[in-house]
Amino acid sequence: MATFNTTSSKSSTNKSLHASDTDIQYVKGVGPRLGAVFKSRGLSTVKDLLYFFPRAYEDRSRLKSIAEVITKTTEDESATLAVRVVHARKIPTRYGKSIFEVRVSDPSGFLSLKWFHLPRGLESKFSPGASFMVSGKIKKYLGHAEMIHPEITWDSLASTTNVGRVVPIYTELDGISSRVLRKVLWEALEKFSSTLGEDLPEYLLNRHQLPPLSQSVRDIHFPPENDSKKLQALLDFKSPSHTRLIYEEFLKFEYLVLKHRLHLEKERSTPFGSKGGLPRLQQLQAQLPFQLTAGQTKALQDIIQDLSLPHPMNRLIQGDVGSGKTVVALLSAALVLAENAQAALMAPTEILAEQHYKTAKKLFNSELPVALLTGKTPLRERQEIQSRLRSAEPVLLIGTHTLLEDPITFQHLGLILIDEQQRFGVEQRLALRKKGTCLNPVNGQKSYPHILILTATPIPRTLALTAYGDLAVTSIHELPKGRSPILTRVARDKSSKRQILDQIRKELQKGHQAYFIYPLVNDSEVEGFAQLKSVVSEAETLANDVFPEFKTDLLHGQLKPDKKAQVMERFKKNEIQILVATTVVEVGVDVPNATTIVIEHAERFGLSQLHQLRGRVGRGSSQSYCFLFSHSQTGETAASRLEVLEKTTDGFIIAEADLEIRGPGEFLGTRQAGTLPFKLANLVRDREWLLKAREDAIELLKTDSDLEQHEHIRLQKYFEREGNRQFERLKTS
Ligand code: ADP
Ligand code: MG
Repeated sequence: MATFNTTSSKSSTNKSLHASDTDIQYVKGVGPRLGAVFKSRGLSTVKDLLYFFPRAYEDRSRLKSIAEVITKTTEDESATLAVRVVHARKIPTRYGKSIFEVRVSDPSGFLSLKWFHLPRGLESKFSPGASFMVSGKIKKYLGHAEMIHPEITWDSLASTTNVGRVVPIYTELDGISSRVLRKVLWEALEKFSSTLGEDLPEYLLNRHQLPPLSQSVRDIHFPPENDSKKLQALLDFKSPSHTRLIYEEFLKFEYLVLKHRLHLEKERSTPFGSKGGLPRLQQLQAQLPFQLTAGQTKALQDIIQDLSLPHPMNRLIQGDVGSGKTVVALLSAALVLAENAQAALMAPTEILAEQHYKTAKKLFNSELPVALLTGKTPLRERQEIQSRLRSAEPVLLIGTHTLLEDPITFQHLGLILIDEQQRFGVEQRLALRKKGTCLNPVNGQKSYPHILILTATPIPRTLALTAYGDLAVTSIHELPKGRSPILTRVARDKSSKRQILDQIRKELQKGHQAYFIYPLVNDSEVEGFAQLKSVVSEAETLANDVFPEFKTDLLHGQLKPDKKAQVMERFKKNEIQILVATTVVEVGVDVPNATTIVIEHAERFGLSQLHQLRGRVGRGSSQSYCFLFSHSQTGETAASRLEVLEKTTDGFIIAEADLEIRGPGEFLGTRQAGTLPFKLANLVRDREWLLKAREDAIELLKTDSDLEQHEHIRLQKYFEREGNRQFERLKTS
């Protein structure tokens, strides 16, 4: 088998011609036209090209005979054969077009190759007797075998890249075929692969028995493997070359994440807890109408510990809907306020901000000074809040993104609480942090607020180590006592839906209430409007035809804020029994008498989102139900996906399943989706290597945090060169 001519290329390579700073046009076979296509897809240097990895592989290491193909292969299986032309002809079709057919043979039989559009210049090459290699998928047609648009290989370089080996299959770039990509990559690898600088220290490669960089890049494109077990490893992205490159991605990323965390740990902030805040917290906690759960207590301990340090807390509390994160957050604020600082709680919706405000008032009998600021706070009140803040009154300001508006300035913002963080962009969190940053006039040092983030969408462990790697995490695993798990059922056909509607009627007759949730997934104004219209008409059908004996009302994003609040208030007071809503009720909303939730078009939601919606019910002591109506025509996968929710109410298991099915976008929010800077690495598939890389990054930071030792210099240079651009976008503070 052909291999790369690495020794001669080394000697012939000019020292200045490194893959990373050589224009892609210098690769043989890439002219201005191809160069422009590559560049339009973000591949401008030779290195970019070398890092354009195959998406799959095909085993062409063994030639087959025509007889074998006819008798032994199945339809659509690929094969590579050595053949000779018998004759070639044009077969006219109707509509004035033609099919080009080449009849070929080998000692075992005959085969037809067919083209509907023949690439230019090819026709004349198929003279009788000409021989070549052909690869393609087998079609069986009226007892004959044929290949449609097969790949033909004539010359010798082409035959080293296209046949007689496991060949790479690439994602086609604007009409550049795998065949062309193979040729261009072969040229680029031969000339430049040895100039790829190794960033990883040898001892780490040895530790995990991983191949060096240049070999990995060569082998990932043109694998030397030829047994089927190794082929499978390639297809699974688990070959030694894949593993090496994946490990490197993880190691570099984890180093940055952990380094950033170290950096945060060195920043300054005001410590709390030694000036009377703790007894105040304990006093308020004792007045609560309930005992904290073990999980809540643990979370509070973690927070108290963090707040006692002169460095900013950067902690995430994750716990299912209803696990009581709010009260933990409020108690933390109480500690800070008692020591004369201010606090801010930012929630993603007005409904939620208002609810937090009411909860704070209710639980602490107005002993906790709070203020509410939302888009609909009247100007007078707004000014009053501003002057309270300016006068350094210790107060917890609860609001939406209105907290970020310019006139809102804090005197001493000690603690920031962010609810349902995945709804906010990084910029918004940073903006709030900035409002609490102050400069010590004496020593010129900056001081930062403590940050506590609350989320009901548990973050899978792999993401917690990557996208949220700079956060400390506390998980609340239990719900307050006396809640029975919600029964969940997926309904796919009309008769089970009718049955379910009858069951809901019985629940309503007992005096309970129900939610019907509809997704509005379309951002386009026109289609969004059409969808909304259909929700409105569904609501009318429910009100007039299905449940005429109960009061129904509708809640959606297009309603004016006071109308929304009015509908919510009436639902809370049980003046409405059925609340039809689009996803605005997703977060918050505490109505213990609501025991049923129906989610229409459940197949359009992520599992974590459905789980969160489901948490609207099961808040009182009665048995609660969740019904997922699936309209999916695609059947199996969508439905079996939903079954995870029938089987478990553990948000952590659901989050892992969701990550596996839908990828990290679900957890990072729309804005951050897709910002994980991994070309090859996959958080689910390669979890094991993420953990290994993390261990090694921790060791690096312990032994040589600035990478100054001889064996780490190249890694240090890498970070100097590439900076941490991609990582910047993922930072949480
Ligand atoms: P989360 O924000 O985690 O979804 P909440 O903080 O809204 O949950 O709490 C849900 C409900 O449970 C609220 O009505 C709250 O007052 C109540 N609650 C919180 N902690 C407890 C507890 N330890 N025991 C009983 N009820 C609790
Ligand atoms: Mg909450």
